[in-house]
Amino acid sequence: MLNKLNQHPGVYLVGSGPGDPGLLTIKAQSLLESCDILVHDFLVSDQIMGYVNPAADEIYVGKKGFTRHITQDEINELLVQLATKNPEAVIVRLKGGDPYVFGRGGEEGLALHEAGISFEVVPGVTSGIAALAYAGIPATHRGLAASMAFITGHEDPTKPNSQINWEYLAKGVDTLIFYMGVKNLPNIVENLTKYGRPLDEPVALVRWGTNPEQESLVSDLEHVVKEVEARDFKAPAIICVGKVVELKEALSFFENKPLHGKTIAITRARAQASNMHTQLLEAGAKVIEFPTIKIEPCLDHDELIDFCEHVGEYSWLVFTSVNGVDTFFDGLLEIGKDSRALSSIKVASIGSATAEHLLDRGIVPDLIPDEYKAEGVLEALLERGVGAGDKVVIARAKKTRQVLNEGLEAKGVEVKVMEVYETHADGGDIQEAFAEALKAGEIDAISFSSSSTVDNFIKLIKDSFESEEEMKSYLEKLCIASIGPITSKTLNTYGIAPTIEAEEFTINCLVQDIISYFKK
Ligand code: SAH
Repeated sequence: MLNKLNQHPGVYLVGSGPGDPGLLTIKAQSLLESCDILVHDFLVSDQIMGYVNPAADEIYVGKKGFTRHITQDEINELLVQLATKNPEAVIVRLKGGDPYVFGRGGEEGLALHEAGISFEVVPGVTSGIAALAYAGIPATHRGLAASMAFITGHEDPTKPNSQINWEYLAKGVDTLIFYMGVKNLPNIVENLTKYGRPLDEPVALVRWGTNPEQESLVSDLEHVVKEVEARDFKAPAIICVGKVVELKEALSFFENKPLHGKTIAITRARAQASNMHTQLLEAGAKVIEFPTIKIEPCLDHDELIDFCEHVGEYSWLVFTSVNGVDTFFDGLLEIGKDSRALSSIKVASIGSATAEHLLDRGIVPDLIPDEYKAEGVLEALLERGVGAGDKVVIARAKKTRQVLNEGLEAKGVEVKVMEVYETHADGGDIQEAFAEALKAGEIDAISFSSSSTVDNFIKLIKDSFESEEEMKSYLEKLCIASIGPITSKTLNTYGIAPTIEAEEFTINCLVQDIISYFKK
């Protein structure tokens, strides 16, 4: 984990990179985590926003929320005011890419300087380098390009005294990298060819570089304008002119990822979604989290205290889920105890993720059955000699299947069920938007990791459709990924057949199966 750097009060002009949260610098992340005030004007990804100190004041100075576009002078003034009024605060002015590359960071720095306010700059990975790299284009290359230039593509072409020396660029610089140039592309092409850049010179456009939505287009100076028009290729994009574009096919990696261009929804409790989210992102997918479930601890403290006092009477403690582990051990802490309270009892875990959470709490499970279901634990416990006269405690959610306790009771085992948490349907307010995306065909797959995610998902979205039939007709068009036979059965009760069912009851396996499905 990142050690928090101790940030001093003051203003920081921070680059957030081109979109991929992994390209944020350590210094930028640390500042986001410790800032008191955040000023930003572009849509920062949820993942990057996830780093921001939850207690920070967030000031959005972009178009949204303002009836008109706030001017640069007003932003400069705002930063000066904020710094003057909050001398003890860490103020982060976050900017896309690098603050000093077409980011107007210099103007903000000058305004602060003139007001006598000290500030620091945290450079970011600029899109002109990163978007190209993710598209397979190195900005320089031995034998192909010994020089490069970053150029604004935004300059008004009718301006009498252009700041851009087109003749020099066309003749003297190998790789030309234009920012903000999509609208102005015809003028860029005209100026370059006018001064001798050949018509067959390769050109590439990369939009939303480093983001899951990344797309690129390769052409040459003669044809690029027509092709951009034909594909309706829109900003924000970097335009690259030069021989290095020829390397794209060999060096492209991001757009070749197995789930690139696919949008996958995950229907888990928000707190649990991050592992699956990360794995899907790494495979190139765009991930939408549709939470569906909220977990609330419901452990009765008196019951837990009583259990701890009598723990010696029990032989096994069984955990059936990650949430069960977390809520149980949190409850233990709340009554002033820790894992030592369990020193005399054996611990069983359903599934490897549950076992990992036990390890985090200092417990090495005595039993992790091969089959990740209640039936598997039942069998394994019986094999271990659990039988009549034994006392077993199961820590689990309210309202779950009774297979394990009924099976044990049938063998004469005394079973104590400790309900440690409960789940509620919770769409996190995105159900309407999600249904719209579903109707628009913007979602390629939905994954379900338990029966309750299925029940809650249907409950949350069905009202956005005319009828259940209509809802089903949309769901049938996509890949429905189920984590196992019980979840599949629940899908069947709604008339939905899962497209894939994970071979093994784990998130890793579910992700792998989704990847294999889309590879085909
Ligand atoms: N300071 C930023 C640039 C801001 S100007 C940086 O260093 O990257 C805005 C322009 O940057 C856009 O018009 C587009 O040309 C480019 N841009 C920003 N993010 C991009 C991305 N992810 N992919 C492609 N181009 C991007």
